[in-house]
Amino acid sequence: NPAMNVRDLEVYYGETQALNGITLDIPRNQVTAIIGPSGCGKSTFIRCLNRMNDMIENCTIKGRIEYNGTNIYEKGIDTAKLRREIGMVFQKPNPFPKSIYDNIAYGPKIAGIKDKNKLDNIVEKSLKDAALWDEVSDRLDESALDMSGGQQQRLCIARALAVEPEIILMDEPASALDPVAMSKIEDLIFKLKDNYTVVIVTHNMQQAARVSDYTTFLYMGDLIEFSKTDRLFENP
Ligand code: ADP
Ligand code: ADP
Repeated sequence: NPAMNVRDLEVYYGETQALNGITLDIPRNQVTAIIGPSGCGKSTFIRCLNRMNDMIENCTIKGRIEYNGTNIYEKGIDTAKLRREIGMVFQKPNPFPKSIYDNIAYGPKIAGIKDKNKLDNIVEKSLKDAALWDEVSDRLDESALDMSGGQQQRLCIARALAVEPEIILMDEPASALDPVAMSKIEDLIFKLKDNYTVVIVTHNMQQAARVSDYTTFLYMGDLIEFSKTDRLFENP
């Protein structure tokens, strides 16, 4: 069964319509890429999936997004919990100005975990799952801001993983990075699908072809195409 069901999703910024009624099932434990030209609604779409768009003034939606049998836009939804279950990684790495350790431990602490051993284990596992442990295990007390851009982005992925999400949303997660750092992130995305559902926005078709199982093509707020990535990119 799909990880999420998007039904007739319309998004408005004031009077301006950015998405015109998107219906899509997001496949579980797969990587789904959202592609399309600048301004077609990719960021708008992905932000709706964990209600990140709530933070944008003027942004209203119609339609439903079902996750675990509930419409996430229903009244009374715990959006903080929702955003732990459906984590987000942004284009620009945004670690907290704290130590590497504290960046990872922050979310679990808020979720109520106080035991130091437990937190240590979560930090180690999350950094391993984000392919960062070997590079930073001996400097967990150092500031996250002293890491390279690529390391910061993997830290942000580790931070999202630390609160045991089901779904990871990524909005252009590699496009601010150099090619080597980008390819590390791509390798990581490919591995994440064993344990998570991944949705990634990218303007880079080659990247979509490399990392995704399914590709969704948006154009001027419409869903033009949804298909298996290998079918979309195979030669006619
Ligand atoms: P993409 O991510 O594909 O570049 P966006 O989702 O950012 O597209 O934008 C879709 C449309 O919505 C564009 O016309 C854009 O100008 C508009 N838009 C995006 N964010 C806002 C906002 N906060 N306020 C008003 N219009 C916005
Ligand atoms: P992206 O394509 O990754 O969304 P943009 O440069 O289009 O990046 O947008 C950056 C920020 O500006 C976003 O927070 C978006 O909501 C906002 N934005 C985009 N278009 C508009 C717009 N027409 N009016 C107001 N804010 C906008």
